[in-house]
Amino acid sequence: MMGLQIKHGVDLSMIDPRMWAGVPKIVAAYARQDFDAIITSGRDGTHGPRSLHYFGRALDLRIRHLSDGLAKTIRDEIKNALGIDFDVVLESDHIHVEYDPN
Ligand SMILES: [Zn+2]
Repeated sequence: MMGLQIKHGVDLSMIDPRMWAGVPKIVAAYARQDFDAIITSGRDGTHGPRSLHYFGRALDLRIRHLSDGLAKTIRDEIKNALGIDFDVVLESDHIHVEYDPN
């Protein structure tokens, strides 16, 4: 039974409930590969000027413990599970997930 970890210092205050609603699906995608999902950024950190992180509508997830292939698999599974209202992007050192229905 795998679960959810939060990196120390990550600010999850004022995360949009619609973003939180997607978290169980993110956890499930990691768990299917026998890993915890680890949130490495919420409203904290430095992002692009119009980043949805600042609005509590984006989360970053750790991938450094995953092979390239596994990171892509988990990215795809998160994308399929969350549907079109979310953007799921595999960046060089994390998976970025945002609630962006437009
Ligand atoms: Zn991000």
